[in-house]
Amino acid sequence: MTNSVPVIHDPREMQSLVQSWQRAGLRSGLVPTMGALHEGHLSLVRTARETCDRVVATIFVNPTQFGPKEDFSRYPRTLDADLTLLASASCDVAFVPDREAMYPPGFSTSVEPPAVSVPLEGMCRPGHFGGVATVVLKLFGIAPTDAAFFGQKDFQQARVIERMVADLNVPIEVVVCPTVRETDGLAMSSRNRYLSPEDRQRALALWRALERAQQLFRAGEHHTAALSQAMHAELAKGVDQVEYAVVVDPDTLGEISHVEKRAVALIAARLGHTRLIDNLILTIP
Ligand code: AMP
Repeated sequence: MTNSVPVIHDPREMQSLVQSWQRAGLRSGLVPTMGALHEGHLSLVRTARETCDRVVATIFVNPTQFGPKEDFSRYPRTLDADLTLLASASCDVAFVPDREAMYPPGFSTSVEPPAVSVPLEGMCRPGHFGGVATVVLKLFGIAPTDAAFFGQKDFQQARVIERMVADLNVPIEVVVCPTVRETDGLAMSSRNRYLSPEDRQRALALWRALERAQQLFRAGEHHTAALSQAMHAELAKGVDQVEYAVVVDPDTLGEISHVEKRAVALIAARLGHTRLIDNLILTIP
């Protein structure tokens, strides 16, 4: 029999388990996901494992963070494989609620996400970060662990959650882990499964554009307009549509005309029906 992690479906049962860990003096960590797991997700579990006695991963494709024309219904769902992968990464338990457990009849409270949610993804995906902030705060209530682990892959999401946790005094440490990439540079993503072999090759344009920005930055180009233009030129070789390709302030995600020390390059682009995002922090080594 293949190894699998124990699964909890009921929020109250999950909460009681984490509370029992707290009483036993065990440090616990939370890894929220939407499933269709890959090495990027598993790296979060492994990082959690290094510093925590108990690790919970959650698998929930949260309907409220998808727009009406987005891919909620076709989002990949691979629960059995996910549970095996979680076991291989020494995760202790998977929390897999259904929609009714998370949003029972009468549910009507939501988080107004912070200012850092407004540009970029906030413009392209109205309502997305409200859905994310609300479900993540719910997960923090259901699994009140000591720490929660997120990927830099979703750079703006990590900023939104850090700000929410600070603003609402949520007693949880937010840990942001590096983006895991395929050997050719493509950031791992559950949505990469949508790509045809040809689109998979074309998708490399995102990584090439980010690398180009880093290279120019290190060669002394600190004007964000020039860096953005260079990214657009690389992207034009591969993707069908660029939603944004910008260099902004890494804390506020606000526009800047010139990079002083640090900035982040962020891209959202479409290949056919697939929307991919990626980012890279621009630094002088
Ligand atoms: P998702 O299932 O796409 O909602 O992602 C769940 C968590 O995994 C989020 O914190 C993501 O940022 C993180 N994640 C997704 N892809 C990667 C990756 N390639 N490297 C590191 N973390 C990732």
